[in-house]
Amino acid sequence: MSKPVIVIHGGAGAITRAVMSAEKEQEFIQALSAIVASGQHILAQGGSALDAVTQAVRLLEECPLFNAGKGAVFTNRGTHELDACVMDGRTLDAGAVSCVSRIRNPILAARAVLESSPHVMFTAEGAEQFAQNQGLEMVPPDYFYTEARYQQLQRAQADEGRVVLDHDGASEQSLSQNDPLDPDRKFGTVGAVALDAQGNLAAATSTGGMTNKQAGRVGDTPIIGAGCYANNATVAVSSTGTGEIFMRTVAAYDVSALMEYGGLSLQQATDKVVMEKLLALGGSGGLIAVDRDGNIALPFNSEGMYRGFGYVGDAASVGIYR
Ligand code: ASP
Repeated sequence: MSKPVIVIHGGAGAITRAVMSAEKEQEFIQALSAIVASGQHILAQGGSALDAVTQAVRLLEECPLFNAGKGAVFTNRGTHELDACVMDGRTLDAGAVSCVSRIRNPILAARAVLESSPHVMFTAEGAEQFAQNQGLEMVPPDYFYTEARYQQLQRAQADEGRVVLDHDGASEQSLSQNDPLDPDRKFGTVGAVALDAQGNLAAATSTGGMTNKQAGRVGDTPIIGAGCYANNATVAVSSTGTGEIFMRTVAAYDVSALMEYGGLSLQQATDKVVMEKLLALGGSGGLIAVDRDGNIALPFNSEGMYRGFGYVGDAASVGIYR
């Protein structure tokens, strides 16, 4: 049996390596390395893939560098609407929440839906009520405010109200902010996939969505099979990118289907989805995946993707650029 492994992402997008500061890059590298290490630790203790991905995504939500939880982008109303999803490849159980504004860690709410509800997805106030009843930490909506994201909203709205995927802005912005990925051209969704010592797969994804998105818009992140999918028979996948295209291509499930019905390897299936099928519809971004044999893939068709992985017993490996 393969060694347990965790893979994480912190979003994909356009890159402006030339203008990045060494300090900012270090911040990302340290954050990613620490979160991979915490997943490895859980798996090394015999913890489940489900626990490892939940914990990794919770830590990514807590880190303001990433567009999920604290650090999430703003809607066109200047509010935050967060989406998250988690799936257990062992049972095909899944839990998701969408359009939530008061749950500190949407991924914990998704996990509670998976564990404590006969349903798969709750949305908006109903999701918040469910989370509160489950004893999860609630926060005032301004908890999610960060100045950098607010400036991003102002730029998007000044530019004829574009809806941007935590991206699509002028790269001069990254000159001033020293963000290795142009902060306006970055998909900031976060995610994790893992294989545990029992051979179980799990996936989790969480996002603030797109800067200046229309209130009520839900992307691929909380949609089983688009932003998140796990099945012990095949693969666990977490996506980041132009959500509408990941939804229309059912991207995460497509990787699984290509493996299950098409006999493709993990590498072939993920390349086909990211480099062919998404691109054909103008989709940009990437995904992370681990198959039941412990093979991993981290393909992206954008210029960069914050990412990292670690097999139990090995050092964590992280990357930003191609
Ligand atoms: N996929 C996310 C969405 O469309 C955005 C992202 O990955 O950053 O909401």
